[in-house]
Amino acid sequence: MRIVMIGSGYVGLVSGACFADFGHDVVCVDKDDAKVGKLQAGGIPIYEPGLDALVAKNVAAGRLSFTTDLAGPVGEADVVFIGVGTPTRRGDGHADLSYVHGAAREIAAALKRFTVVVTKSTVPVGTGDEVERIIRETNPDADFAVASNPEFLREGAAIEDFKRPDRIVVGIEDERAREPMEAVYRPLYLNKSPVMFTSRRTSELIKYAANAFLAMKITFINEVADLCEKVGADVQEVSRGIGLDNRIGGKFLHAGPGYGGSCFPKDTLALVKTAQDHDSPLRLIETTVAVNDTRKRAMARKVVAALDGDVRGKTVAILGLTFKPNTDDMREAPSISIIQALQDAGATIRAYDPEGMEAARPMLGDVTYTRSAYDAADGAAAVVIVTEWDAFRALDLHRLKATMESPVMVDLRNIYNAAQVERAGLRYISVGRPSAE
Ligand code: NAD
Repeated sequence: MRIVMIGSGYVGLVSGACFADFGHDVVCVDKDDAKVGKLQAGGIPIYEPGLDALVAKNVAAGRLSFTTDLAGPVGEADVVFIGVGTPTRRGDGHADLSYVHGAAREIAAALKRFTVVVTKSTVPVGTGDEVERIIRETNPDADFAVASNPEFLREGAAIEDFKRPDRIVVGIEDERAREPMEAVYRPLYLNKSPVMFTSRRTSELIKYAANAFLAMKITFINEVADLCEKVGADVQEVSRGIGLDNRIGGKFLHAGPGYGGSCFPKDTLALVKTAQDHDSPLRLIETTVAVNDTRKRAMARKVVAALDGDVRGKTVAILGLTFKPNTDDMREAPSISIIQALQDAGATIRAYDPEGMEAARPMLGDVTYTRSAYDAADGAAAVVIVTEWDAFRALDLHRLKATMESPVMVDLRNIYNAAQVERAGLRYISVGRPSAE
């Protein structure tokens, strides 16, 4: 199959490289000259484990290329995926569809033969109808079908997720889209990955409903963690105790500083807005959004409380800036609100992240970036673990303590055992768990 991927970001680049690895001919298009230039020169503009090797292998095999020119490759394509961003629209919380609509207009003008145009971006219900309308209006002679194929990969494990998905969802209205979409995913059919064909609107809603459910699950356990702290219970044991029930499942039941990232915050908000517009409010998700919003600054208050209620003039070491490990993605990372709140309270911030510091710099003001966790802890009144990078899981606690001004560790990811930290002479505060004292 000849595939064009419009948008070569976290989703477009991974999907494009994986499709090429399936044996398809793939052209990844992006408007960003710098991004395309870097890719053409053999570089990778994002950090995603394994992506450099996968891209290099498929470029070398002649199956994967990069360009800023949309029209040429689209005219030759069997399937064109739209994988551009759908961020929150400023002002009202709806998804900003301007990039999707813009891509649809450009694709329309370039179509030369029957082509399936697929939204891989996360888009609100009805967007496929609008994409179809835009293409028809821009190019009345175009021969095309519009399908929906939401992406469920997770940053940090994106290649594995793409190649071994729990399911593939494809929404179609025009039967002519079925066979090309089956051909695109044929290698996964052979792997027995479930491929679910449904209507376009249903497919669009599946993606939002899945993300909203996961965000709600995280938020649920976070609130249970707060209750655990009040009543002297251990949230990790509660998670295990409920997660062993197959009807609940153990995933997404880790208490922490609140969800962030490029998807959950914007997608929950967009779903809430869509539901309100249709007079069918999703109150559980409205509450999820509100609870999660307040949680991040509450985590900063937890740090302040750990330092006897006052951080003015004190240095706080932040370990981990990205919204989760194994990515450099800083979008909506809890660290942003936590650092801001600590700075508002008068703290000085030293921070270390294995991959996220470059992306963090323009987003965070007045932070000293360091070369290691130990360097960050130098002179700090407290060390705060915000992201559970493997590099933070087995720190030399004696060495850490030796450089600190006061020995306090606030572990917002529960990656340490209280007794172990306290044996090293640090005070230990975590989320929803009793201390060892
Ligand atoms: P991203 O910001 O990393 O990449 C989007 C890219 O699209 C950018 O490089 C931008 O320059 C390019 N672009 C915009 N308009 C263009 C145009 N007209 N022509 C060519 N290129 C254009 O975004 P992302 O994280 O890859 O997300 C893309 C979509 O996938 C979003 O809808 C997101 O919700 C969804 N999604 C993301 C993830 C994730 O983990 N990041 C997972 C599943 C779904």
